Amino acid sequence: MEYIEPAPITDKENPFESMMSRFIIAAKHLGLNEETFNVLKSPDKQVIINIPITMDNGSIKVFEAYRVIHNNVLGPSKGGVRFDPHVNLDEVKALAAWMTWKCAVVDIPFGGAKGGICCNPREMSSGEIERLTRAYTTSLFDVFGPDTDIPAPDMGTGQREMAWMMDQYSRNSSMTVNGVVTGKPAVLGGSEGRVEATGRGVMVSTLSALEKLKINPYNSTVAVQGFGNVGSNAAQLLAERGTKIIVISDITGAYYNKDGIDIEKAIIYSKDNKGTLENFDGAEKMDHADDLLMLPVDVLVPAALEDVITMKNADKIQARLIVEGANGPTSAKADDIIAEKGIVVVPDILANAGGVTVSYFEWVQNRLGYKWTRDRVNRRSDRIMRDAFANVYKTSIKYDVTLRIAAYIVAIDKVAKAYSYRGGF
Ligand code: NAD
Repeated sequence: MEYIEPAPITDKENPFESMMSRFIIAAKHLGLNEETFNVLKSPDKQVIINIPITMDNGSIKVFEAYRVIHNNVLGPSKGGVRFDPHVNLDEVKALAAWMTWKCAVVDIPFGGAKGGICCNPREMSSGEIERLTRAYTTSLFDVFGPDTDIPAPDMGTGQREMAWMMDQYSRNSSMTVNGVVTGKPAVLGGSEGRVEATGRGVMVSTLSALEKLKINPYNSTVAVQGFGNVGSNAAQLLAERGTKIIVISDITGAYYNKDGIDIEKAIIYSKDNKGTLENFDGAEKMDHADDLLMLPVDVLVPAALEDVITMKNADKIQARLIVEGANGPTSAKADDIIAEKGIVVVPDILANAGGVTVSYFEWVQNRLGYKWTRDRVNRRSDRIMRDAFANVYKTSIKYDVTLRIAAYIVAIDKVAKAYSYRGGF
């Protein structure tokens, strides 16, 4: 697990309200009836647990943890588990709803969920994290399951934690159940192509949008904020397809080269440099990292954290296209300003859905007991991402709305239709 504390966010919006404001607009366009609106706005299940863990020094510490299942009318709920000191119920609720919409946008048969443990994994030993992960899994044994609710990694968790969760769930079930989590190590049933899947989806969404904007990728410039899993893979794949990446950034700053950055070199450098670009000599360090967002580029890919494009800086953004690799990088209050400027935004619930798509493939492979090749995974996920983009684009024209609201319309319509067939009590 490599995770570096992000910089503080200055005007952070309540994530649940931010999600709801878009949901309400889309629901109005759809003419969603009040009953369905009420069903979809409320999470199905919210579990709060307190987990006592024996720390290495013998003391017992209690950790508050959550699992929220927003909706499961389309299938078992799917969503990551976040280990972070700032995790709270509102955030987990918003992220769970986001997962419902994301799965529906890319048309995979999952509902949405999210989990979290309020802890600081950077200050815990591996043994403490393992005990906490196993206790969390056991406490939620009745919630998790390959047919009910399938966790995945999120902030502060990775393959290691997924292996512990799968193992603990399997022990409690007295058999190996590898389909209970995704994002596992390959040897335990993890899928080929999962690591780069989100960045790959960002690349496919970017190319689809550039085509609509009639911008030739070979003549386009790109700025990428965040150089972790999503940002570095998106940058590399976009560079391979001819775009010029002129600025990249991470927690240590933004690095600019007007002639284009050698992304391959930057990735190797970052890997050898404890995961950061500090002192990278293939570009010049910018005085103010946040200026990356305001550069006159064709494409801006925010792939680090939420709420980086806000009311404060939205009117200074010069990119023609924003492709949201991160979850929630644009605050709801900035949406209108961005739209008025004519900037096209491929929203997070579409742009970064490549990850959950390949997670779905992992689950399918686990259930089949058969492993797909990387080539098959990539071809199928590219097709899903292209189709999803085309569907959202068509919807944006039909309703005369932004791609973000169109993505919500597609998602809400799908879940609402499924609900109308399944019905309530
Ligand atoms: P990561 O931890 O691998 O990388 C995060 C990157 O952001 C790091 O390079 C870090 O240095 C950088 N960063 C942190 N603070 C920064 C700042 N203030 N300015 C610039 N860079 C900063 O995380 P990730 O998996 O790449 O996730 C990034 C975003 O994408 C998150 O919002 C996450 O929720 C979202 N996302 C990830 C996936 C996935 O499959 N990994 C899927 C969907 C969405």
